[in-house]
Amino acid sequence: MMMAVRKEEYLRLKQELDSKNITLVAVSKTKPVEDILELYHLGQRDFGENYVQELVSKQAQLPKDIRWHFIGHLQSNKVKVIAPFVHLIQSVDSSKLLIEINKQAEKNHRIINVLLQVHIAQEETKFGLDEQELSTLINSDKLNELKNVRVIGLMGMASFTQDEQHVREEFKTLKKLFNQHTQNTNHERWEILSMGMSGDYKIAAEEGSKMVRIGSLLFGERH
Ligand SMILES: *Cc1c(COP(=O)(O)O)cnc(C)c1O
Repeated sequence: MMMAVRKEEYLRLKQELDSKNITLVAVSKTKPVEDILELYHLGQRDFGENYVQELVSKQAQLPKDIRWHFIGHLQSNKVKVIAPFVHLIQSVDSSKLLIEINKQAEKNHRIINVLLQVHIAQEETKFGLDEQELSTLINSDKLNELKNVRVIGLMGMASFTQDEQHVREEFKTLKKLFNQHTQNTNHERWEILSMGMSGDYKIAAEEGSKMVRIGSLLFGERH
């Protein structure tokens, strides 16, 4: 069966999120460019992808005013292919990666905005920094030397569980870290707290999310 893009759901969700000042990133991984265009024509401009080759291929085929968010695990040696156009890299989880993004941004004469990904879930399979690594990275002098990369907030994924209270606690933890570090006077104020997906965005919104990443609710299940 062909799975159609859920336009009604998109319009409803967009209105709900706009009223709360939350940015919607439509996660289009594994979905064809035709599906992306359907939402584009409804006005959607922020799209998220997890795989470098897929992102590069879609970017080449689609309108140039799309803001591409990279949300998957990123290997340092792949940064150079997305550096010319990527809008926001949400999944930075090491200083090595940060240094490479800075280098490639400089080559492209631009500043690349990034989020640091924090590991808040129980699942070992999920990527991200733990609290200690996060504070070490943020407080390292090295960060100030990187002139072509700008850390503007945090991203995290909650555990995949039906236990709403558990998910809520994980989002609270991320929000707490966000507040702690954004108040640190050594840094510019952070703008973005990216948390919430199809299954848990309502909880994330209640806990202070500024950006949600929604895939299956808009594009249907992935296979
Ligand atoms: C796939 C993915 C999403 C979207 O997931 P859905 O459950 O389909 O909304 C959001 N964030 C990240 C990091 C993802 O990998």
